[in-house]
Amino acid sequence: MIRDSKAPNVLPLVDGYGRRHSSLRISVTDRCNIRCFYCMPENVVFKPRDEILTFDEIERFVRAIVPAGITKLRLTGGEPLVRRDLHVLVERLSSVDGVTDLALTTNGILLADHAKALYDAGLQRLNISIDSLREETFQKITRRSGLDRVIAGIDAARKLPFHQIRLNAIAMRDITEPEIVPLAKFAFERAMELRFIEFMPLDADGNWETEKVLSGRETLHVLEREFGRAVPVSGNDPAQPAVDFTFANGGRVGFINSVTQPFCQSCNRLRITAEGQVRNCLFSTSEWDVRALLRSGASDEQIVELVRESVSAKKRGHGIDSDSFERPARAMYQIGG
Ligand code: SAM
Ligand code: SF4
Repeated sequence: MIRDSKAPNVLPLVDGYGRRHSSLRISVTDRCNIRCFYCMPENVVFKPRDEILTFDEIERFVRAIVPAGITKLRLTGGEPLVRRDLHVLVERLSSVDGVTDLALTTNGILLADHAKALYDAGLQRLNISIDSLREETFQKITRRSGLDRVIAGIDAARKLPFHQIRLNAIAMRDITEPEIVPLAKFAFERAMELRFIEFMPLDADGNWETEKVLSGRETLHVLEREFGRAVPVSGNDPAQPAVDFTFANGGRVGFINSVTQPFCQSCNRLRITAEGQVRNCLFSTSEWDVRALLRSGASDEQIVELVRESVSAKKRGHGIDSDSFERPARAMYQIGG
C-alpha cells in the first residue's frame, strides 16, 4: 500500500565531505535481453521476482526520501524496459512533488515499442546505450543480435519531444577505436549528444584491466583528427560527471572519464538496487537494506535514517587507481549503472 508522505522537509543528505545528495538511480530489474560482456556473465542467474521491489515499494521509498532533497531520478537496471508496465512506474514517480527530473537509461532494444507510453507517462530524458554501428561488433559485445532494433528505438524516441536524448558508448581499447568516428557522425547527423564512458571494473567476469580502458583523452584525439579542434563547453554543472566538448560542425561529445579523471569530489548520487539495497557509490562494498524496512512496516523517518547512514559512510572517492581498491562483489547489471 502506498503511504502518501506528507513529511515536513527533512535535513538534506550531506556526507562527511560536504557533498549534498540530490540524485537517485533506481534499478528496476537485474534482468536484461542482451549480455554485454562488460556488464553481465554469459550464463547469468537472475534474482527471484519476489526479491525485487514492487512499484509500490519503489514509489514509497521515493516519496520518503524526496523531502530530504532528492530531485533527480534515473531508472536503470539491468534493462529497465524488460520490467513489465514500466510506464506505470514512470507515471507514479513523475507525480511525486519535488521530483524535477525523471530519466531512463536503456539499451534501446525495446524502445520502439515503449517510447510513446514512457513519454506520455512523464519521462523527460533518455540515455540510449550504443557501442557500435556494426552488427558484428554489436554481437561481439552483447553476445546477442539486435542493432537494428536499437536504431529503430532511437528513431522512435526522436519523433517524440523528450527534453533530451543522449547516446552512451563504452570506451574499450581494441574494440571502440574504429567505432568512435562513425558513432560521432551518427550522433551529429541527428543532432544528438554522444557520451563516451570509460570502461570500469564492474564486469561480471572480472576481466577488466587498466590497459583495456580507452581514456577520454585518447577518444578525444581520434575525434579531433576527424572533426578538428574541440572546444570545452564552459559552465558545465560540476555535479555532472561528463566533460563536454563541441566541434566546429556544431556536434557535441561528452566524456565520462570515471577511471582516468574521477569526478568523485562532486558526486551527488545515491543508488538503490532492484532488490532494495541502498548504495552510496557504484563501487561501494557495503549496502543498506531498505527492502527489509519497507517490508516490515517501518516509518518514512526510519527509511530516511537508513539512507542517511549510507550517505554518512560514503568514502571520499572510489580509488580505482589505488592499491587498496576493492572491486565490489556485484557486477554492473546487479547494481544499476
Ligand atoms: N541496460 C541499460 C543500458 O545498457 O543502457 C541500463 C543499464 S546499464 C548497466 C547502464 C549503463 O552502464 C550503460 O550505458 C552501460 O553501457 C554502462 N556500463 C555497463 N557496464 C559498464 C562497465 N563495466 N563500465 C562502464 N560502463 C558500463
Ligand atoms: Fe544489459 Fe545494459 Fe548490462 Fe548491456 S549494459 S548487459 S544492456 S544491463
